[in-house]
Amino acid sequence: MKILYVEDSAAAVLVMRRRLANFGHDVVLAHNGQEAVQMFRAVAPDLVLMDIEMPVMNGFEAAARIRAVEATQRWAWTPIIFLTASDTEENLITAIEAGGDDFIAKTVTEPVLHAKMKAMTRIAALRQGLMGANQKLEALANSDGLTGLCNRRSMDSRVDASFADAVQFQQPFGLLMIDIDNFKKYNDHYGHQQGDDCLRAVACALAKAVDIDNATAETEAGFAARYGGEEFAVVLHMASRERTEQVAQALVQAVRDLEIPHEKNAEWGRVTISVGGAHLPYAQGKVGNLFRDADARLYQAKEAGRNRAEL
Ligand code: GH3
Ligand code: MG
Ligand code: MG
Ligand code: MG
Repeated sequence: MKILYVEDSAAAVLVMRRRLANFGHDVVLAHNGQEAVQMFRAVAPDLVLMDIEMPVMNGFEAAARIRAVEATQRWAWTPIIFLTASDTEENLITAIEAGGDDFIAKTVTEPVLHAKMKAMTRIAALRQGLMGANQKLEALANSDGLTGLCNRRSMDSRVDASFADAVQFQQPFGLLMIDIDNFKKYNDHYGHQQGDDCLRAVACALAKAVDIDNATAETEAGFAARYGGEEFAVVLHMASRERTEQVAQALVQAVRDLEIPHEKNAEWGRVTISVGGAHLPYAQGKVGNLFRDADARLYQAKEAGRNRAEL
């Protein structure tokens, strides 16, 4: 276990550090509460062992501050155990109120300390497993199963957040709606299995085109998402009008360049997309209006013959 050990008394440190090291733990020392709070994020300990009486900042206040730091991360709760001179009822209650989980008397015997650390190690292993599983679940919940792009749910929340920022800071905002041309015919002619392969290839080409743009743009990164069915969206927070247009053209070209045969796609003979775009130099109003505008342009691109972008 990685233990953040907070103690101002050199004598106490000498004894406790040796004991913890003997049990096989990795100990990082902070000399007072303030140091502990400052070090907490970088150390990312499995356990905090905290003295109460310390100069600069006492243990109770440090615990409360660590809890405030953790409040910004979901499911974060690092066990904090206070080291007390006396295990009075009052001390226990104050320790729990301050965000602590337990306390150990400084006079604790070696076997009891060993047993307590064993129990904490089990909890630490469990927390680590849960955190890993949680990260995997979150990634799954946010990505589209077929294409691996950002899915609709996660796109909606990302767009809401970035559009709110754009409105607040009067930033430009670009949005592109993408639809594969004559895709029903593709499915009918080549089968759904190949239709799925085609969707994956198109998604990959779109993501790559956005990535290339991200690499060359000086402003914030854009991202591609699967909007639903054979429709995609590219969100370009902070993009200028010129850049939004450039990306739209790049997407159309990238799919053309895949040269996926599509006999039933008019004169093109390969898979193509149509793109509708909308752009606000200063974001305002509701993001839904931007989607509606981009959709209207997409319809125009289809009407004008497909395999093109309209902004
Ligand atoms: P348009 O050029 O006007 O967009 O014509 P279209 O045929 O692409 O449009 P339409 O909306 O009529 O058809 C979309 C098709 O996309 C119908 C549906 O079978 C197909 N589709 C949607 N989602 C999937 C998918 O996940 N896999 C496969 N293989 N096909 C899908
Ligand atoms: Mg002290
Ligand atoms: Mg469609
Ligand atoms: Mg279509």
